[in-house]
Amino acid sequence: MASVKLTNVKKIYGKDTVAVQEFNLDIADKEFIVFVGPSGCGKSTTLRMIAGLEDISEGTVEIDGVVVNDLQPRDRNIAMVFQNYALYPHLTVFENMAFSLRLKNVPNEIVYEKVTKAAEILGITEYLTRKPRALSGDQRQRVAIGRAMVRDSKVFLMDEPLSNLDAKLRNQMRAEIILLRQKIDTTFIYVTHDQTEAMTLGDRIVIMKDGFIQQVGTPTEVFDMPLNLFVAEFIGAPKMNTFKTKLVCEGDKYYVNPYGAKIEVTGKKAEMLKGKRIGSREVILGVRPEHFVLSSSDNPEAIPCKIVVNEMMGSELHLHVVEDNGDKLIVRIPTVSLSDEQRASLVYGSTIYVTFEGKVMHFFDPETQANLLV
Ligand code: ADP
Repeated sequence: MASVKLTNVKKIYGKDTVAVQEFNLDIADKEFIVFVGPSGCGKSTTLRMIAGLEDISEGTVEIDGVVVNDLQPRDRNIAMVFQNYALYPHLTVFENMAFSLRLKNVPNEIVYEKVTKAAEILGITEYLTRKPRALSGDQRQRVAIGRAMVRDSKVFLMDEPLSNLDAKLRNQMRAEIILLRQKIDTTFIYVTHDQTEAMTLGDRIVIMKDGFIQQVGTPTEVFDMPLNLFVAEFIGAPKMNTFKTKLVCEGDKYYVNPYGAKIEVTGKKAEMLKGKRIGSREVILGVRPEHFVLSSSDNPEAIPCKIVVNEMMGSELHLHVVEDNGDKLIVRIPTVSLSDEQRASLVYGSTIYVTFEGKVMHFFDPETQANLLV
């Protein structure tokens, strides 16, 4: 068992730098939680308070129901993996991994058993006699993870562990962390600024901004129902398109009028607007790039725009377009959906007509930026 609970946690550096505040979170045993947000939002500070590497200014951190605010890091039963690996250069991979066990005078045969088992899980058995400098970046990170694994910790803390790796290795290690998680049954708290990492790794994601939690939810929840505009734009790549427009209520139907197009709100979104008795009003409308489709000039639901950039991503095109008013949008089109002629016509300067379905819209309050349907 290793649940972690943070209650009203606050961190103030020096006199008045408030790095984290009103942080409340219940992490269940064996849950994989990801803290995500832009640089400086307080992710690492929160992780370091859980680890005991940073004093907690206010509030409590509990591990398995025990308040650990005043416990030393070594007494918290946690293991931490950092971005910069922090390996000892003069020790072999084996001794790097064995280090914490040696400090505790663990008998040799148990050290051997634990290190070789972890090395096997991480696929680094053949490197055990090497020094860290003779390893590649991902191998070093495996050693750092192995060093944490041998400690049988109740909670595994990881601070941007993949950010020093190149893009390809990062994808590979991300998949391996998912496998690792299946093999070692423990609670994970993982910090990253990368929303893809957060979405793919987390059972639940904690999205932070300026020291405050913005939303806690499963990847599906934060993607489908972002609580505010910040979350909506932070989760998903390329980011959600947003534009100020009017939501019009006519009888029991709702329409939006982006750039002169008239598009009916349908499905669950229409039901929710009705349920909340929302009347005609100004909104910020959000539509994800993948929810746009190509249309034609005779469709009253279509928005005319000009292509400024066509990024060929392989399985899809990312079309950067400008609408007549100069607003920029990004539209993702699966390449398989296009004929050769269509593809050839999607070039810089050409006019295209795009639209989206009524069920994919998001509505935010222009003042508070809160999701109107939550
Ligand atoms: P993140 O991990 O999300 O990038 P951090 O937790 O590192 O953010 O930082 C949160 C805020 O606290 C930032 O404004 C940062 O400048 C500040 N901060 C972090 N560490 C210290 C420190 N040791 N002293 C003073 N301010 C700090």
